[in-house]
Amino acid sequence: MNYETFFETALDDLRAQGNYRVFADLERHRGAFPRATARGETTGDVTIWCSNDYLGMGQHPTVLDAMHTALDRCGAGAGGTRNISGTTHEHVLLEAELADLHGKESALLFTSGYVSNWAALGTLAGKIPECVVLSDALNHASMIEGIRHSKAERMIWKHNDLADLEAKLASLPLERPKLIAFESVYSMDGDIAPIAQICDLADKYNAMTYLDEVHAVGLYGPRGGGIAEREGLMDRLTVIEGTLGKAFGVMGGYIAASADLCDFVRSFASGFIFTTAIPPAVAAGAAASIRHLKASSSEREAQQERVAQVRAQLDSIGIPHVENPSHIIPVMVGDPHKCKFISDKLLQDYGVYIQPINYPTVPKGTERLRITPSPVHSDADIAHLIGALEELWAQCQLARMPLAAQ
Ligand SMILES: *Cc1c(COP(=O)(O)O)cnc(C)c1O
Repeated sequence: MNYETFFETALDDLRAQGNYRVFADLERHRGAFPRATARGETTGDVTIWCSNDYLGMGQHPTVLDAMHTALDRCGAGAGGTRNISGTTHEHVLLEAELADLHGKESALLFTSGYVSNWAALGTLAGKIPECVVLSDALNHASMIEGIRHSKAERMIWKHNDLADLEAKLASLPLERPKLIAFESVYSMDGDIAPIAQICDLADKYNAMTYLDEVHAVGLYGPRGGGIAEREGLMDRLTVIEGTLGKAFGVMGGYIAASADLCDFVRSFASGFIFTTAIPPAVAAGAAASIRHLKASSSEREAQQERVAQVRAQLDSIGIPHVENPSHIIPVMVGDPHKCKFISDKLLQDYGVYIQPINYPTVPKGTERLRITPSPVHSDADIAHLIGALEELWAQCQLARMPLAAQ
């Protein structure tokens, strides 16, 4: 086999399908988020409209101060796995902060949200004898990989469909161990799971629950504990999983659960045991971000206002976007080539950065631009974005919604 030809052909196929991914080479400016300078083929000033640093906490002075202080005090890396000299006081403090955020006895850190899902689901489902995992059809790749890695039996229930979930639960013996794995805010459609009803079913059929709150932590609930906090449900969930890399603006992942469950995963998860801990400065920055968002709701409120503004202005020019109760605005294009074309044009001609979301992140035919307004986008930023989309929609002859009668 000619290996290089194989790689080239595979990449050519991706290009032909419009699914080849090009990363925008951007340099973010501290203190000026969402502003950045493009350093790739396109150069110039850019406004970022697709960041998962949803509240701009990656630039927040409190977070940066905590990171600088920890860096100066502790140095760069953790120096090892948590087992071998890698546990620092910053990790211990951060886990306490996370347990408190979710009202759980304990929390356990991982190097990313991806790793936390992979390791925790892989370990729980793999080590509990005869465990069946009931997985929502739209779960994130990291959950799917963890479940697959566990080799446990898996049943996929229709997305957010309680009747289908119940039918699958009822088909299993009551005494057989079960784990229901799902998300609160789904990242691509921005819809939200019926958590209370899922917990009711879990009680009825004696199942554990595993909730990924990656797109909700920091953003919902009076202290940023997520949708489960907002709805008063945190104590009903067996495991709450989250990231430190999105709304908290830093990096890392975690689970929060009972002391024994966390200790179990700590003791048996390969993806926890055999990898170097996150740097102390990263842990300190994340803890500062969580602490700040526990006490301050102004960022959350401003974000929701911005989201409402962008939605209203999209409606006013008839650009179709998926209605949902979250902060994520999916603008549907429905074609991978057009989606990439619009994204390229936005960057080159308007200095607007919105990554095209194509297959395999979303199903074919549902290609979209995923807009994530933040508290730091101004009225002028919004006006510029809407003007750019209006022109490009005309240029690409994309469908518009009929405008409501005035
Ligand atoms: C991004 C994401 C993750 C992974 O979190 P990272 O910290 O980025 O690794 C997990 N679950 C969902 C739903 C995500 O969107």
